Amino acid sequence: MYNSTVDTPHYTQLIRDVVDFPEPGILFKDITPVLADREAFTALIDALADPFTGKIDKVAGIEARGFILATPVAEALRTGFVPIRKPGKLPWNVVREEYELEYGKDALEIHEDAVASGDRVLVVDDVLATGGTAAAAVRLLRYLGAEVVAVAVFIELGFLDGRSALRDVELHSLVNYDGG
Ligand code: AMP
Repeated sequence: MYNSTVDTPHYTQLIRDVVDFPEPGILFKDITPVLADREAFTALIDALADPFTGKIDKVAGIEARGFILATPVAEALRTGFVPIRKPGKLPWNVVREEYELEYGKDALEIHEDAVASGDRVLVVDDVLATGGTAAAAVRLLRYLGAEVVAVAVFIELGFLDGRSALRDVELHSLVNYDGG
């Protein structure tokens, strides 16, 4: 994890803060400037993937921005890729997991044959906020018999304490905003 300006990698400096998006009071972490920069994007994918070289059978990405990072991470690790999607998007038989939002509920789905029992899986997303989304993804994969090796995210919003929702799984984050 990089906290000082001395060892802050280029990709971290390109994260753009967007005030009041998608609704008032949210400071949105926009990663599109990182994705658009050749060197930053490559360094970001390497930083997400490198700790897991040789340890993973499949990489699971969470819709939608998680897909953008998870697919190149899977390629870098020479593994398959598995999409975890919002309800109604996947065409084959699915299992579904609901999770709490600040107001109401949401759900994620995965194909019932997306992972084999015992597969070592890395979950990838862009941002860890409250952790509810990532925790639901972990539950889906475990239900199908996978071994979730870790959750890897680019950005951890530490002040929202998403780590507490992921106590029983390794969390790999590249940058942590502790103070909001
Ligand atoms: P959570 O379930 O609260 O951890 O929310 C995680 C999901 O919401 C991730 O898939 C993120 O893409 C998105 N998200 C939540 N907060 C932010 C934020 N401040 N900036 C960008 N994305 C966010």
